[in-house]
Amino acid sequence: MQIIPAKRIQVSENRLRRDIEALAAIGAGPFGITRRAYTTEDTKARRLTVSLMEDAGLRVRVDPVGNVFGRRDGRDPEKPVIMAGSHIDTVPNGGMFDGALGVLGAIEAIRTFNDAGIVTESPMEIAAFADEEGAWFSGTFGSRAFVGQVREQELRATTRDGQSVWEKLKSAGLSPDDLAGSVASYPISAYLELHIEQGGVLERDGLDIGVVTGIVGITRGAITAVGMANHAGTTPMHMRDDALVKAARFICLVHEEARRGCDMVATIGQIQVSPGAVNVVPGETRLSLEMRSMDPARIETAVERFKQGAASLGGIEVDLGLAKMPVPMDPGVMDSIEDACKDAGYPYKRMASGAGHDAMCLARIASVGMIFVPSMGGISHSSKECTAWDQAARGVDVLARTILRLDARKL
Ligand SMILES: [Zn+2]
Repeated sequence: MQIIPAKRIQVSENRLRRDIEALAAIGAGPFGITRRAYTTEDTKARRLTVSLMEDAGLRVRVDPVGNVFGRRDGRDPEKPVIMAGSHIDTVPNGGMFDGALGVLGAIEAIRTFNDAGIVTESPMEIAAFADEEGAWFSGTFGSRAFVGQVREQELRATTRDGQSVWEKLKSAGLSPDDLAGSVASYPISAYLELHIEQGGVLERDGLDIGVVTGIVGITRGAITAVGMANHAGTTPMHMRDDALVKAARFICLVHEEARRGCDMVATIGQIQVSPGAVNVVPGETRLSLEMRSMDPARIETAVERFKQGAASLGGIEVDLGLAKMPVPMDPGVMDSIEDACKDAGYPYKRMASGAGHDAMCLARIASVGMIFVPSMGGISHSSKECTAWDQAARGVDVLARTILRLDARKL
């Protein structure tokens, strides 16, 4: 492997902060930042991203669904592209780092190459993917379009506010009729995404960087506990068949199972009691169940135990619905990120991502890797979302060093 000139890289915390704050001003309100995909604010954010990319010397194109790409040529035009990016939309009342750090941090990485006179072998592209947060239909819309996973029907389907995605794109000045024009038509060797952790593990462990091992799989289901509705005054306690009490016991069982080891999380986030009156013993209780893990076998074991628990409690049914498989990151890319952390002397750990990201879509066409930086207090999707500027800059440093390490690989 050739000597990597990473020592010459100098990330500017000030430039990074200036850009993140400029983007954060678009859609800023008293309770946070609201830049939902294809709104006026989102279009403004796209414009700012285009101009920042151009200022960094990138050749910019906006694709038919609003993904922005900025290209920097390498020495060898035949080599596949090394891509880095994330998204610039937000949830309602979101924070300034989610997504923005991955896009603006990648632009800053390019500027460090410009400053140091570094020309990579492979061409580089910075990507800002549209509608990662799923404002109108389902999430990672832009990156799904890029990997050819969006169908015409999704464009035509009516969204929450009565308009179709097609109409949203049209009104944002984009070209939804050319959906095929959004699909990647060139090889990409690697995709890197720098992102805030959105959890509190790195902060608790006093680490700068998380080397992401994969994005967890999600299994969802419904639990129904059946009892007997009856008068709350005249039914003695020993004669009751209370569906909510059964459900409560089941909830504890789920919690305890998920707490064995730290390789899965399980959540019951919705509960519906019927008939739902203050003076009636609950006759039926419905619960949602969500489990996330990198290991499908772990989920299977947990489900088996839930079913056994349900059988011993009696009157409880477990129905599993949607199951999304975990998306592992590329081992070679993970090693490169880890080596970049060692080069720079930043403390790090390997960890799974409990949330979905554009990287999981890009995994269909490229070797992907993700770099996490700490979220203060583990808070995100909130105006309180915060990462220390020096830690954000260290994330960019690791991103830049990883790009150079990947570029030096013989592919
Ligand atoms: Zn994000």
